[in-house]
Amino acid sequence: MEVIFRNVSFSYNDTPTGKLALDNVSVFLESNLIHGIIGPIGSGKSTMLELMNGITLPSKGEVLVGEYELTNKKSNFNFNDFRYDVGLVYQFPEKQFFCSTVGEEIAFSQKIFDPKNRNIKNKVKKVLKMVGLDETYIKRSPFELNGGEKRRVAIASVLISNPKLLILDEPTIGLDCNSKKRLMRLLKGLKTKYLKTIIIVTHDVDMLYEIVDDIVVLSDGKVIKTGNKIEVFNDIKLLDEKRVPVPNVVRTCNIIKDNFGIDLGYVENMNSLVRKITNVVNEQKKMVVVNNEK
Ligand code: ADP
Ligand code: MG
Repeated sequence: MEVIFRNVSFSYNDTPTGKLALDNVSVFLESNLIHGIIGPIGSGKSTMLELMNGITLPSKGEVLVGEYELTNKKSNFNFNDFRYDVGLVYQFPEKQFFCSTVGEEIAFSQKIFDPKNRNIKNKVKKVLKMVGLDETYIKRSPFELNGGEKRRVAIASVLISNPKLLILDEPTIGLDCNSKKRLMRLLKGLKTKYLKTIIIVTHDVDMLYEIVDDIVVLSDGKVIKTGNKIEVFNDIKLLDEKRVPVPNVVRTCNIIKDNFGIDLGYVENMNSLVRKITNVVNEQKKMVVVNNEK
C-alpha cells in the first residue's frame, strides 16, 4: 500500500503566523518496502505518522494512503475500512495491555471491529505465528512476558485486522540486543513473506540501516533528503550538519575509505564489517607471502 504526501503542510495552530509542523512535504513511499523516517526531535516525524494514520488531516495539500484520500476537503473517506488497512504500533505499545491473557489481548481490537467474528481463535493463532510465538502463549498473562515477547504480542494485536500498511513508532526502544534482533527479523519477514508495507519512525539508525529500503530525512518540518538508504546515509556532511544520527557502520566505512582508500561497498552492520576487514587483511597477507616467494 503506497503512501503519497503531495505538498502537505500542517500547523497545530491554524493562524496566519502559526508555525508549520510540516512545511510543503512531498514524498512517495512505495508499496511493499520498509521505509524509515528520521530527523531530530521536533522535526515533524510524529506529525507525519498522525497524518498517514488519519488522526489529523493536512492544513494544506493531500495525503494519499492506497486508495484513501486524506484531505481537509470533503472526500469519500471511510474511516472504518481505513482502520483495517492501516495498523499503527505506538511507542511502548505494551503499556496499554489490560487483558488477563495474550489471546484476549490480541483478539480485543478484532472484537470491537467485528463482534460476531467466529473465526477469531484461528486468527489469533495465525498472527501469533506471524510474530514467531507458538500457541502456548494464548493462555499466558501478557504481563509476565519478557520485553521482546510483549512487543511481539502488541504487534500481533495490530496484525489481526490484516493491515496492508504497518506503521511503527520507535519499535526497538527499550529492547535488549537479542529481542531487537528478533524484532528486526520479524519486520523483514512481514515485508517479504506477508507483503506488508512498513513505515518506521526511529532514532535507532543502526537497526534501521539493516532492515530498511528507503529513508525520509526531516528537519524543521521539511524533507531535506529522501531515497535509497545507502545514498541517504552516505551524505554524512548533511546529516551531521542537521544533527541527524548516522549508522556506526556507515561512519566507520567512510573513515576506512578516506584513510586507506579501501571501498568496502555495502556493509549491513558492524559484525559484517569485522568479517570484511578480516578478509581484506588475510588477502593482503597472502599477497605479501606471494611477493616474498618471487
Ligand atoms: P518529532 O516527532 O519529530 O519530534 P513532532 O511532529 O512531534 O516532531 O513536532 C513537530 C513540531 O510540531 C514541533 O515544533 C512541535 O513542537 C510541534 N507540535 C507537536 N505536537 C504539537 C501539539 N500537540 N501542539 C502544538 N504544537 C505541537
Ligand atoms: Mg515524535
